[in-house]
Amino acid sequence: MGFRPDLFHKYKHLGLIDVHNHDADYYAEKGSIAIWERYHIDKTVLFGSISEPAAMVSDKRSWKAYTKYPEKFYPFFSGFSMYDEGALAVVKEKLEKGYYGVGETVAASTYSPLTSKLQWKAQHPMDGNLPAIYELCAQYKVPILLHIDPPFGEPIDRLKEALRAFPDTKFIFAHANVYNPPERMENLLSRHTNLYIDFFAGFTVYDPNNQYALESYIPLIRNYSERFFLSTDSATARNLNYEKAINAMYEVIDLCEDEAIGEQIARRNFLEIIEAQPATRTQIDLIERNALEYDMKAMNKRMANELIIANKLDER
Ligand SMILES: [Zn+2]
Repeated sequence: MGFRPDLFHKYKHLGLIDVHNHDADYYAEKGSIAIWERYHIDKTVLFGSISEPAAMVSDKRSWKAYTKYPEKFYPFFSGFSMYDEGALAVVKEKLEKGYYGVGETVAASTYSPLTSKLQWKAQHPMDGNLPAIYELCAQYKVPILLHIDPPFGEPIDRLKEALRAFPDTKFIFAHANVYNPPERMENLLSRHTNLYIDFFAGFTVYDPNNQYALESYIPLIRNYSERFFLSTDSATARNLNYEKAINAMYEVIDLCEDEAIGEQIARRNFLEIIEAQPATRTQIDLIERNALEYDMKAMNKRMANELIIANKLDER
C-alpha cells in the first residue's frame, strides 16, 4: 500500500476522529485545524506534553482549545504525579470539570527516546497511582489512554493484571500496533473485553522501523471492530506528516472493505464512549447556580460542557 489521495474524498463523509493527538501547545501556530479540515478529520482528542510537570500547562491549553472550538476537540489530561497521593485529587478535579479521558499516560517505557525519561512515568501498568486512577475512570465512565513499551513481557503482564482487576475501566492501548504484531494484540483482545486499541496507521505504513504489513492487521480489526480507534499521534514517526498519517487511517478503512466497520473504527466506537459519560456534580452545580434551563435526565457530560461553554460560565 501507499499514498492514496483518492481516499480523502472517498471517505470524507465518515467524519474521522483522531483519538491521539499532542498538539495542545501549538495547534494554533501550526495551523493544525486547517490541516485536519483539509483531510476531513472531524474531531480530535487533544493533549500535549504527557506524564511530566509540563503536562499541567498542556492540560490547561487542551481545555482552552476546547472552549474555543467545542465542535473540534475532546480534551484529555496527563499532568499528574505518579507517586504523590495528592495527585488523585487533581485527577478527580479534572474529571469533574469535564475532561473526557485520562492520557496519554506513560504506564511503562523503556525504549521510546521521548517517553522513557519522563519524570511522572510509571514503571508498569499497576504502579503508583494508576490503580486508583483506573477506579476513578470507571466511576466517571472515561477511558484511559496508556503508553506501554515494550509491548510484551512484564509491562503487558501487568496490563493484563489491570484489565482483570478493573473490569469496568476502558483501557486504550496507545499506538498498540507500534513494534507489535497482530498476534500479540489478538492475545489481549480475545481475553479482555475492556481493552481498546488506538491504531496508529501512519507508523505502520510509513515508518522504516515498522516490520508488519498493514494488511496483516486487517483480519484482527475486522474481528474486533467494536474496539478499534484510529489516530495520527500528531504524525510523530519517521517519514511522516499529517497528510500521510491521515491518509493511512483511510487506508485501514479501505482495506476493511466494509461500510459498517469503517464507520465504527472511524468514529462511532469513540463517540459511544464520549456520549455515555454522565454530567458531573461540578457541571450540574455550575449550571444550577446560574439558573440555566436544562433537562437533567437527558444531559450528559458533553451537553453540560457545551451549555457551560456557550454561556461562558467556565470563565468566571
Ligand atoms: Zn502520543
